[in-house]
Amino acid sequence: MAQILTRNNDILWKLIEDKVVLLDMDEARAITLNDVGSHIWTALDLKYRDFSKRLHFKKESERVPLEGAIEVTSRCNLNCRHCYIKDNSKNNELSFEECCRIIDELADAGCLWLTFTGGEPFTRKDFLDIYIYAKKKGLIIVIFTNGTLITPEIADYLKEFKPFYLEISLYGMSRETYKNVTGSADNYDRCMEAISLFRDRKIQFRLKSVLIKENRREIFEMKRFAKGLDVDFRFDFLINPRIDGGKGPCDTRVTPEEGVEIEMADEEVRKEWKKSFIEEKPERNPDLLFFCGAGKNLFNIDSMGNLQICNMVRFINYDLRKGSFKAGWNQFPEILSRKAKGKNKCSACNLAHLCTICPGWSMMEHGNEEALVEYVCEIAHLRAKAVLKEIET
Ligand code: SF4
Ligand code: SF4
Repeated sequence: MAQILTRNNDILWKLIEDKVVLLDMDEARAITLNDVGSHIWTALDLKYRDFSKRLHFKKESERVPLEGAIEVTSRCNLNCRHCYIKDNSKNNELSFEECCRIIDELADAGCLWLTFTGGEPFTRKDFLDIYIYAKKKGLIIVIFTNGTLITPEIADYLKEFKPFYLEISLYGMSRETYKNVTGSADNYDRCMEAISLFRDRKIQFRLKSVLIKENRREIFEMKRFAKGLDVDFRFDFLINPRIDGGKGPCDTRVTPEEGVEIEMADEEVRKEWKKSFIEEKPERNPDLLFFCGAGKNLFNIDSMGNLQICNMVRFINYDLRKGSFKAGWNQFPEILSRKAKGKNKCSACNLAHLCTICPGWSMMEHGNEEALVEYVCEIAHLRAKAVLKEIET
């Protein structure tokens, strides 16, 4: 590690002296080791967001797998009612060696941003070993966690070897709500404890939540809590079925009317939808099955080593146990050029920019990649109505 640190400091000072604008991936990767990245961005007065935007723009046309996620496990210590993934069977999970091999390959293919997710990553006893292996590769790492397995020792380790940030799922602001959502009230205390541990150690984190029937009355309390801590907070209310097609999570959905009313009551969210409505064109090629950015610079890897174009599309996989990351990535253009078999209501819709419909969701909801998901459709229409009302007043 010491050697890497020295190398980082050399690069750091060179860049500060020369006022070099960071656009090169290798440089970026080198300075992200050992948390030197944040200092250099500050020193160069180069906002991280600008750096990220420029690099994404530069690499988009080159089809580089710039950003991806690895679900290191599908196991979880919580029992959330809305969960779409949890499977406590250990189910053929990637070994430490397999994770490392895949990390080597994706870094070689040009990945810079890597998210570790699950399940709950910290249910794996070797998760920190996998994490540090990826960090030593110079990847910019985000960790998604429910926070409930964080101990002072883990927090100390993350203080020494900081991720870019952690994203903690917050499911309510009371023990009672946590009991209703996750199965145990104690999970609330554990999550709050993790937040304190990270704050005390100045480890960057963000909070996120899902708005479901069980916690709908606490969503703005969660937002105020995050604001009080001066950390980002976001929430989503679109609950999809389980990846195996199970419909249990759908029981937790708030109605489209209630969901849109709550999201539009949030000034920041309302502004974002308004911006999308005014500035983005609902462009899509009606002949193609996939019409979003998945698979262009993004990828997902599940806990069994299946490479996918995103975490929603589970029905097209490349088995990384049988071939290399590069070979799998090179199959993406063929996947993305798949034609839609028929024309449905979405083909000519002008609300696509307010809508989260995708073939993965259609498959989970109806077992048909082109089926309309009525719940999602209704939400898009209600959003459009709310935004139009706002524009007119
Ligand atoms: S914390 Fe996440 S992975 Fe675990 S049960 Fe809840 S939603 Fe599922
Ligand atoms: S689901 Fe509805 S709103 Fe969304 S693209 Fe299809 S028709 Fe349009």
